[in-house]
Amino acid sequence: MSITDNPVFTDAEAAREWLESTLWPEGPICPHCGMIGCSTALNGKSHRPGLWKCKGCDGHFTVTVGTVMERSHIPLNKWLLAMHLMGASKKGMSAHQMHRMLGLTYKSAWFMCHRIREAMREGKIPGPLGGANKVVEVDETYVGGKAKNRAFKPVPPKEPVVALVERGGRVRSHHVATVDGKNLKPILKEQIDAASHIMTDESPIYPSMMGGFAGHSTVNHSINEYVRGGFFIHTNTVENYFSIFKRGIIGTYHHVSATHLKRYLGEFDFRYNLRSGLGVEDGERMTHIAMGVTGKRLTYRRIGGRKAAQTARHA
Ligand SMILES: [Zn+2]
Repeated sequence: MSITDNPVFTDAEAAREWLESTLWPEGPICPHCGMIGCSTALNGKSHRPGLWKCKGCDGHFTVTVGTVMERSHIPLNKWLLAMHLMGASKKGMSAHQMHRMLGLTYKSAWFMCHRIREAMREGKIPGPLGGANKVVEVDETYVGGKAKNRAFKPVPPKEPVVALVERGGRVRSHHVATVDGKNLKPILKEQIDAASHIMTDESPIYPSMMGGFAGHSTVNHSINEYVRGGFFIHTNTVENYFSIFKRGIIGTYHHVSATHLKRYLGEFDFRYNLRSGLGVEDGERMTHIAMGVTGKRLTYRRIGGRKAAQTARHA
């Protein structure tokens, strides 16, 4: 999909039509009474664009009614372009880049980026990771804690992140308060199929939470992989995931506050889980994001408001 050639990225009406055909494959869905395909388009000049009237309840609606896009002054084609860019950019796209590329104010770009990130985070693919004869690698890392200049006092603490990655499959990463059994055990139990074989490093916290899983192997990070019991013993997959995340955080976002860390993790999880290596194309990623954006509401206040926007700008 070429950005410059595709009218959904340059024309608000084309963008609206794309949203309608994507979100309403069987015809317009009335948000008032739920009837599908029983509405007529109101094309008169006195109506706002994209207005429909339901034959069931006489209610009026558009494809963006009740969503963050409805009251946004940002044209729909720019929303779609932002979704496409965030879905396709391996290391993410900062509000600064979005502000310059889309000709929006920084504040609008910041809000839009967070809303899209939230849609990516909440669009989790259901079901546990792993299964019989499958390996799930679990590892922890620490994010942040560096101050580029003395303006940051005190230096923010490093934030622990735990990721679970099914080899050849999906990831789920979590920002936790501390890396310990109390925090990790429920996550592992809930998110990993008990028939899976778990690989971790030699951290002493893991063995106590392995009861119930099919097996557990540990690896010393400094030692090359080897084979035992039919499995390649390593945690390279989860370490690669962390390296993509950290390159994105350092290269694109420079600094991420503890408050927003889970949203950035959601963004990187989303792209990893809908990567082309699993047969997913850029267009499908955009569809997933659009469904997330229209399915939920997020007010400016809820994601931290003006104060957070300023913090992000100076970061
Ligand atoms: Zn209706």
